[in-house]
Parts: sequence; C-alpha cells; structure tokens
Amino acid sequence: MSRPIQATIFTQNLSHNLAQVKKLTKARPTWAVVKANAYGHGLQAAYAGFAQSEGLALLDLHDAQLLREMGWKGKILLLEGIFTTDDLENCLRLDCDMVVHHASQLILIESWIKLLSPSKHEQVSQKIACWLKLNSGMNRLGFKSAQYVMAYQVLFGLGLTVNHLTHFANADTDHSLPTVSEQWQVFEHCTQFLEGFRSAANSAAILRHANTHADWTRPGIMLYGASPSGLWDDIAGYDLKPAMQLSSAIISIQDLEPGQTVGYGGNFTATQMIRIGVIACGYADGYPRSAPLGTPVWVGNNNSDHGCIVPVIGRVSMDMLTVDLSHAAFAEVGCPVELWGAKVPIDQVAKPAGTVGYELMCALAARVPVRVASN
Ligand SMILES: *Cc1c(COP(=O)(O)O)cnc(C)c1O
Repeated sequence: MSRPIQATIFTQNLSHNLAQVKKLTKARPTWAVVKANAYGHGLQAAYAGFAQSEGLALLDLHDAQLLREMGWKGKILLLEGIFTTDDLENCLRLDCDMVVHHASQLILIESWIKLLSPSKHEQVSQKIACWLKLNSGMNRLGFKSAQYVMAYQVLFGLGLTVNHLTHFANADTDHSLPTVSEQWQVFEHCTQFLEGFRSAANSAAILRHANTHADWTRPGIMLYGASPSGLWDDIAGYDLKPAMQLSSAIISIQDLEPGQTVGYGGNFTATQMIRIGVIACGYADGYPRSAPLGTPVWVGNNNSDHGCIVPVIGRVSMDMLTVDLSHAAFAEVGCPVELWGAKVPIDQVAKPAGTVGYELMCALAARVPVRVASN
C-alpha cells in the first residue's frame, strides 16, 4: 500500500459554488479567480469546475497558456497585468485582458504601440482590453484618484478598450478602515463619467455588499467553499461546498500510561490511560505545524460511513500527527481520516492554527497526490 494521504478535488462542488455566486449576484459575469494554482486545487480542476464562468483571473501568463491549451475559450484576466513587452505580446497572443495598475505599465504599453506601423496600430489597439485599477484605499496596487482619469485618457487615446477595477481591503468586516462603503464611493466617484465595465467585489463583498457587485464580480475563496473572514460560521448559511478534501489514514495506535508524553517536545502528557492514533499527514504535506491541541480531525470507521471528530494532541511533525482516540473506540489502524473537507471545514483547522483557509489550500504540498473527482 502506498502512503494513504490524498487530496481530492470535487469539480462539481466548484461548479455548485459558482452557481451560488451567480444566484447572489443576479447572474452577473464573473472572473473566477484561479491564481495560486486555483488556490491549490489545480488548474485542470478549475477548468472543469468553472466552465460556466465568463472569465478566469490569474497572475501568470504561463497559467493562461496552460488554460488555452486545455481548451479554455472564455476570457482570462491578468490580475497584476504585464511586466515586460514580451508579456504584452503573449497577452495578445493568448487573448488575455490585463489589469493596468501603475504608470510603468502605461509607459510600456504606449511605447510598444508607438513602434507599430500606423496601419497595424488600430488593428492591435482594438484587441487590447485593459482593466484600469484604482487605488481606492487599499494602498497596494492602483492609481490614486488624482491620476486615474489621466491614466484612463492615455489608454483611451491609444485606442484601447478600458474598463475599471478596484479591490477592497476590508470587505469582511465593517469596523476596520478603509470601509467598503468608503472605497466604493471613491470608485464610483472616480469612474462615474467614464466608459467601460466596472469590477470591484471579491468573495466577501459578494456575500455582504450587494451594492458593490457592479458589472463583473471576482469571487475567489468562496468558489472553493471556504470563508473570506476565516470563520466557517460566516458562510455556513450560504450553501457553499468545500471543494478540497485532504484525507489520510491511521497508521499506528499507541496506548499511553499516565505521565507519558507524545511526539517531539513532549508537549502533551497523559494524565490517564489514553489511546492515541498516528495519522500519515504532517507539515510537509501542508498541514499547519501551528495546529494546537484540540484541532478537529474526522476519523471514520473502516466498515461503514460512521465516524467522529477527534482532537489533535501533541505537536504536528513533518510526516505525522497524533489524535486522541479516547472517544473513538472503533478506531483501528487503516481507518480513514479527513483532515479537512466536508466533515471538517478548512476554516476550523485554519482558525486554531492562527491562519486562514486561503493559506492552507495554497500550501497543499506537492508531495500530496491529487485526485480530481467529478462528483
Ligand atoms: C485574489 C483576488 C480576488 C479574490 O479574492 P477572494 O477573497 O478570494 O474572493 C479578487 N480580486 C483580486 C484583485 C484578487 O487579487
């Protein structure tokens, strides 16, 4: 038998979650965000799962190339735009839309176009679709309001198609600054008299700020069935289905006497007789080493679909972690285990470990075999 760890990606859940987005946004066109290898789910699975999306948004032209080779006919958006003139040529060749967020990109585009012969100029310009990015308060990428219209005029003057985009810093809370409504007002004010489509809402804004849905939405984390706020409870009512299951099995069972400890550092000491299970999954597989005592793991029965949630005890090591089986008398070597998925929402692992579902998904290790399942 090979090592039992496996990640399973359910493409029907990706499609289901996309359909939920469409319901919430009155069927507005979507940029399904597939950066970071589709949040760790793999481009192949995203290609299958997001067939109903008008567009896919990503960072890397290499990924755009792979998607085109798979047969993706829809739109593709480069979220950080182009970095070089080569990128610009590849962007055109692969028929991608691009974000333009900085003056250096304007210069690159302008000088490249000006090198074309006048007859070619028009033909090429028409094919370039830009999403000019406004820095409405996040202060990461984008033009400030004062420069925005100027940047717009440069691109428009070159004959390019120009649309508008901004990104929220705090769409998941209403308490921190800048608030969504403040950012939205800046965006509206700045773009109200300009032609072009507008896109602002990420998952959190799709869920909580319907007034920001605009023309194109940009869902990411919710498509994969996890919460933008990091709290599963915040999305529990939206019928979103986890698309990634990380599973493994119990490979050893130990009985501990009172006073004995578990694993490295001995950070758990038994106070009574206790049965522990050793699971083939560690931080080198992408399970967070910071997961503390009590982090939930589902253990199943070999002979039926029954199972229960048991707590992590001891320190997560490179290849293994240990759980307390005191309340899972049925458990034996070979029993299946779910580290995260439909039974253990990834948010409930991320939260105690001090992180968010986003990071755990993206950090799924290359050594974990991935199976793409269509149901
Ligand atoms: C990652 C990203 C998104 C998606 O964000 P989620 O919080 O995962 O929904 C949307 N827009 C931009 C520009 C992004 O970088």
